Amino acid sequence: MSLDEIVRPTCVEIDLKLLEENFESIKKHVAPAKVMPILKANAYGNGLIRVAQLFQKLETDYLGVAVVEEGILLRQSGIKIPILVLGGMLGNQIPIFLKHDLSMTASSIDKLNQIDETACQLKQKAKVHLKIDTGLERIGVHYYNSERFLEQSLNCKHTIVEGIYSHFASADSTNLDYTKLQLERFYEVLKFYEKNSLPNPIRHISNSGAILQMPEANLDLVRPGILLYGVYPSQEVKKTIIVKPTLSWKSHVVFFKAIKPDHPVSYGSTWKSDHFIRAVTVPVGYGDGYFRSMSHKAEVLLNGKRYPIIGSITMDQIVVNIERDSSYNGDEVILIGSDGKHQITCEELAKWAGTIPYEILTNINTRVPRIYHE
Ligand SMILES: *Cc1c(COP(=O)(O)O)cnc(C)c1O
Repeated sequence: MSLDEIVRPTCVEIDLKLLEENFESIKKHVAPAKVMPILKANAYGNGLIRVAQLFQKLETDYLGVAVVEEGILLRQSGIKIPILVLGGMLGNQIPIFLKHDLSMTASSIDKLNQIDETACQLKQKAKVHLKIDTGLERIGVHYYNSERFLEQSLNCKHTIVEGIYSHFASADSTNLDYTKLQLERFYEVLKFYEKNSLPNPIRHISNSGAILQMPEANLDLVRPGILLYGVYPSQEVKKTIIVKPTLSWKSHVVFFKAIKPDHPVSYGSTWKSDHFIRAVTVPVGYGDGYFRSMSHKAEVLLNGKRYPIIGSITMDQIVVNIERDSSYNGDEVILIGSDGKHQITCEELAKWAGTIPYEILTNINTRVPRIYHE
């Protein structure tokens, strides 16, 4: 991409071809289970609408988001696939779910009843997935209290129970004991349907970690998030499916200078050199989601080499030490991505920032333009 095509010298590039390949690899791995791509938090930084359009084209059966606003945006952009909103919600939000044909997560008997009553009043059918808490202790009816919840769901005449689901707490770790326990608890809950000779709603529990490590948990549908975007949920997870990162983060040099010995760099004057160095300034900072906590650790790729960032990362700009090398205004700087020879991964940024790759991806601010490669 040439410089004059972009508004800002800093942008995120999304490779939609790789996203499609990652999706197809997951789909093949879990078949005959279906796949519900998870698109919350701006599709893990990849851009909600364009990513949803790709999945609509690929005729996926479901999409998952976290909050109702994400679902509304998808409907307003012409996405017709069933959409499940995974997060907790308040009773006064129910009409907006109904208006936009979004499936709700019913996380308690009270919520379920409220959903059914609202649907009755509005003369509509509500769509829900029953949420069972098998050990995450976030939302959902505890597995040991679920019988009454499932019974009540049969009495809701204005509600279609599309699915029943739960969520794992540590499916991406080496020790899968707790994950297995959660799966057993979920199976126990599901016996209700067999016992009452009722058909199962769609059963689902697997996130990226479980898709990689617990094929026995695939059930009817799986819910991959981070894996779709080519990033593994943890360092220790077994890489049983090969995926490639879809997102690169790039910027360009906007300033070059020499810095004298003992002349400190950036806020707080936390870094200085004892000899002359050359340095470049790059227009990206923590206001874009390039975390300040990576100061004094982060590196970037420039002209085929890795260079360290010096001084504090500021809101909008960073300074890169190129020592004796040369660089010019307009040179490409890779923050996340590969130049063919070297690579900087979002896992690496997570390590520098003391966080997990999820937080790196979902914090790349919307002020960073997204550019798509088909
Ligand atoms: C975020 C989320 C997922 C996807 O998790 P990944 O680890 O990114 O695969 C699946 N299900 C629920 C309920 C979630 O909140």
